[in-house]
This record gives sequence, structure tokens and C-alpha cells, in this order.
Amino acid sequence: MLSKKEQLDELNKRMSECKKCILRSTCKQVVSGAGSAEAEIMFIGEGPGQKEDELGVPFVGAAGKFLDEMLGVIKLKREDVYISNVVKCRPPANRDPLPEESEACWPWLEKQIETIDPKLIVTLGRHSMERFLPNQKISQIHGKAMRRNIQGLGARVFYTLYHPAAALYNGSMRGILTEDFKRIPKVLEAVKKSENEKKDEPTSINSNEDNQETLF
Ligand code: SF4
Repeated sequence: MLSKKEQLDELNKRMSECKKCILRSTCKQVVSGAGSAEAEIMFIGEGPGQKEDELGVPFVGAAGKFLDEMLGVIKLKREDVYISNVVKCRPPANRDPLPEESEACWPWLEKQIETIDPKLIVTLGRHSMERFLPNQKISQIHGKAMRRNIQGLGARVFYTLYHPAAALYNGSMRGILTEDFKRIPKVLEAVKKSENEKKDEPTSINSNEDNQETLF
């Protein structure tokens, strides 16, 4: 039986050879992800930018530095978490990924989540949020933890944040993002506690018609 790290390394190696969508024809390399295969928290952004494309590592530009800063505030380093993106290849000129590109890349992200099996998935920005929590407004659900049943992955807990790049030069959004970020340790503890309590419950999650439940 392969360890989580071995499984993830193997997965990321296969991903580096992917040519399933057009993004691979314009980017320099596939940016699979970085961090610990044992992470309890997985951060998911939108897609690699120019710097990430050059270095092959997610969140290494200005937004990445800001993310590192915020991780420091909650006493974590990037080696303690896992960081990935909805699409693993840089969209040209940093445009938004097209729905068909996100769709093509989904099996890679799905497999990363399945392998790491994090307790908490933190979405960074609107595109990442929409991948998991459709029909929501980020202005309304940022800083909230929601549990949703994802086909193929089962019930997962998501915590929505604004994208660090959007908050970099916007003072009020920066403040909101920092405050939401500071809540992550408490949210993680609450998720673990609720998991333990649910182990004793015979019933399934009490969710709404979207199969979605706001937790805290
Ligand atoms: S974006 Fe994803 S699906 Fe498209 S080529 Fe890159 S790894 Fe493959």
C-alpha cells in the first residue's frame, strides 16, 4: 500500500504529462500543487499566474506572499497545508479559466482531494468557490463553513475566502480576508468536533435541497 505522499507524487507526475485541454498549449508547465500530503487544510485557488507558470509552484507571486503572511498569522507554514488550483495550467494573459477547462481539469483536483482527504477545503476566490458551491455569492458566504456532498468525494466541508490577489490592493477587502483567515483554526476544530459527534449519528447530513448545509 502506497503512502499518501507516494500516491500524490505519482498523481502529480501523471498530471505533469496532461494535455487534456488547450491551456497546456500556451503554458510553460503544469503546476500540480504543493505542500503536505497529510494536510488537514487544503487551499484551492483558481489557476497559476505568470510566476507560478515559470517556477512550477502555486501561489509564489505577490498573492502567494500575502497567503504566506496570513498562514503565519495562524501559525502555519505552507508545508503544513496543501495548495492547489482549479486548473493546473496558466490561462493565457491570466484570463479566467473557461468552464470546459475547469471541467477537463476536475478529475485531477478530485483525485488530489481524495488522496489528501483534508478535513477542511478553503476556496480562494469566486471561481474556486463556484466549483464546489454553485449558485452562491462570495460576498454573502465568505468566512462561512459549509458542508456539501460532492459526487465522487462524499460530504466535504468548505470555507470560502476572497482571493488574496483581489485583496492585495484593496484595503477593506484585505481586512475582511485577514479576519476570515484568522477564523480558520477555530473552524477546523469545529469541523473535527462535529465529525466526532456525527460518528455516533445513524442519520445522514440534514442538508437543504442543494445538498448544502451552513455549519458555522
Ligand atoms: S489545465 Fe488541467 S486538464 Fe488542462 S492540460 Fe492542464 S492539467 Fe490538463
